[in-house]
Amino acid sequence: MELKMYINGEWTESVHGATRDIINPFNQEVIATATEGTREDTEKAIRAARVAFDKGSWSTTPASDRGKIVGHIGRLIRENALELARLETLDTGKTLEESKGDMEDIANVFEFFSGLADKDGGEVIESPIPDSTSKVVREPIGVCGQITPWNYPLLQAAWKLAPALAAGNTLVMKPSEITPLTTVRVFELFEEAGVPKGVANLVLGTGQEVGAPLSESHDVDLVSFTGGIETGKTIMKSASDNVKKIALELGGKNPNIVFADADFDTAVDQALNAAFFHGGQVCSAGSRLLIEESLHDQFVEELIKRASNITLGNGFDEATESGPLISKEHREKVEAYIEVGVNEGATLALGGKRPEGEAFQNGFFFEPTIFTNCTSEMRIVQEEIFGPVITVETFTTTEEAIEKANDTIYGLAGAVFTNDIDRGEEVAERLRMGTVWINDFHPYFAQAPWGGYKQSGFGRELGKVGLEEYTEVKHIFRNK
Ligand code: NAD
Repeated sequence: MELKMYINGEWTESVHGATRDIINPFNQEVIATATEGTREDTEKAIRAARVAFDKGSWSTTPASDRGKIVGHIGRLIRENALELARLETLDTGKTLEESKGDMEDIANVFEFFSGLADKDGGEVIESPIPDSTSKVVREPIGVCGQITPWNYPLLQAAWKLAPALAAGNTLVMKPSEITPLTTVRVFELFEEAGVPKGVANLVLGTGQEVGAPLSESHDVDLVSFTGGIETGKTIMKSASDNVKKIALELGGKNPNIVFADADFDTAVDQALNAAFFHGGQVCSAGSRLLIEESLHDQFVEELIKRASNITLGNGFDEATESGPLISKEHREKVEAYIEVGVNEGATLALGGKRPEGEAFQNGFFFEPTIFTNCTSEMRIVQEEIFGPVITVETFTTTEEAIEKANDTIYGLAGAVFTNDIDRGEEVAERLRMGTVWINDFHPYFAQAPWGGYKQSGFGRELGKVGLEEYTEVKHIFRNK
């Protein structure tokens, strides 16, 4: 498979002809060769998007017509869902079941923004000046730079592409250099759905070379970034040069609070789902487990029992519950945290190592890991590990649970398990996080906004606000 960039309606190779091997994390086989873009390629793509916005008709096309094209993309994703899911599993190692779920969600996202595209017709407001009229309208922002990570390659791209197009912007998308397969395939579907030349452009390559020009360029009006906190800070600094608008979806260190009155089986199941789904490589992973002290021993015993039965393996095997981590470097990062935790005095109660056996030799596998006897100041409790690692702390009062849960620089998501609904609601209101689940973990959907408090970022994706983020607000006043 050869992957090219899509610039101004043409499938293009890098100006310098370099390529990058794309690796299957399950067996390290080369699954594709991608052209490795350069700064010049990104600049070319930005120019194409600029011309398409300033001189093309996309931004002035009736919103209902743009919505139809966005809806058409959703239908094509549905029609090609199995192929796309297979590509995602090849590229990320996640189970095919998870990838199929992602494709369903992605189609929903395009269909949701398709329906929303023409719903905001502006607003007439009362003017205090006699004989005048005032109206408030929303317009597209312009050229959008969009940068995505490797953990949910196409899902994260869809959260940006669908609203940007629906709102009438033009764009340059840069997927993670290690997982470009599905994003490239979806740009082929864009062509089929009738997205005009120059409106949606795709560049491939590293963050420093191909991503950075998007936040630096004076021709880009907005950068929407999903990824790590350090990269987010770099983007924020360079975007300040031309006061570019930015939206940052960064990391998380998400608390999962379990009260003693919670439904036991549900809480254990969801604690596993929270922390180990996709090997914990999820921005909203519930990696900080806070258990009411009286429940601790029984809960941890069951958690360890069930976690040690999680079947690791090839994402294409039906029996597999969790695939490998994304790369050699990432597994080394997770491993380094195991040493940190042990040195900090936490008890390694499960895992903490690579699984043994022939089947795991070539993949970047890592065992589900549980640290007990953790305290809030430990690095393993405060820093995002982004792997299958749970830290366990205890609490005795609601107040203490909330305090511990909020004691982090992050504020992406959290959950509370209790049968006392008033208490659940109270905790949800007091957690400083963009999403809080009560008696569940991870549900998200196109209708509900997603984003972080504190250093998990700012701006929202999905929901009605997800479309508004891609618009400017204009007041038009008319005197007689
Ligand atoms: P990363 O920050 O290393 O890379 C993300 C993207 O940024 C990649 O495409 C990369 O090439 C690009 N990039 C790197 N340096 C850049 C630069 N200087 N300028 C522009 N672009 C640059 O993150 P990652 O390792 O790919 O992803 C994991 C991180 O993503 C985790 O921290 C995770 O929490 C976060 N994440 C957040 C959400 C959310 O919704 N908040 C969702 C998924 C992932």
